[in-house]
Amino acid sequence: MDDRLHIELSSWLEFYRELGIEEFYRRAPSSATPLPPTREGTRVAVDGHQPLSQAASKPGPEETVPVNSAAPPVPLLRAEVSQTAVGAPPIRPPAPTLSLFEAPPTKPSGPETLEEIRADLGDCRRCKLASGRKHIVFGEGNPHAELVFVGEGPGADEDEQGLPFVGRAGQLLNRMIQMIGMKRGEVYICNVVKCRPPGNRAPEKDEIEACSPFLFRQLEAIKPRLICCLGAPAVKTVLGIKDGITKIHGQFYDFATAKALATVHPAYVLRNPREEKLLREDFDKIREFLKRK
Ligand code: URA
Repeated sequence: MDDRLHIELSSWLEFYRELGIEEFYRRAPSSATPLPPTREGTRVAVDGHQPLSQAASKPGPEETVPVNSAAPPVPLLRAEVSQTAVGAPPIRPPAPTLSLFEAPPTKPSGPETLEEIRADLGDCRRCKLASGRKHIVFGEGNPHAELVFVGEGPGADEDEQGLPFVGRAGQLLNRMIQMIGMKRGEVYICNVVKCRPPGNRAPEKDEIEACSPFLFRQLEAIKPRLICCLGAPAVKTVLGIKDGITKIHGQFYDFATAKALATVHPAYVLRNPREEKLLREDFDKIREFLKRK
């Protein structure tokens, strides 16, 4: 046995011993199944299982978007042996039902669902807003909506009910949705941050950084045709545009495979009723856009 193989085998046995597996036996050479070469032709998985490195590199839905949840660590080095080691009869632990070489179960491929994203958010404590909230306001509406509204963050009413845009600004939003011939249940409504900022202040940078990955995952799951950003924090987060809303409102931007449009926040219109015209104009554009198939 060459030195490299000896070192590798020792490290492997030590790994098993750390797990409390002390006994090993040699499988009869005749029962050894030839292992297929990998694409590289040199590194193969023990016992014919898929190499962990390959399993881990498979593009999964969680890779498409920033995620906070890290994949469980896998002992890559120990899960693979070089082709030269395969010539020797494989050494197996006495309990073959538990394979230490199997990749952890992977999620079925395909986009994440909103339920999965909500489950991952859990009882979120990723930022300081958690301490003051009553409810996480994840979002509400049609999971396959053509139109998604992104607001700033929950206010008092939303925090109380755990639903977005249910206060006065929400009532105005509902009216605008009706004005373009849609029902609230047809669209999806969410926010840049999912917990109420104290005193309804604007969400801060660290809070947006902690929360916005979930927003992007929601958008990825819904795959709307149009995203309507309500107010500056939404525009900045979704489109990265810092210009004033009154300058860029009503224009269509590309966002992945969707379009995005910015308009003024309904709460701003409640404070400045003369700006309702601007909101109406932008909603007319939304209606026109959605009419085109
Ligand atoms: N304002 C927002 O930005 N979001 C809400 O959910 C309610 C008010």
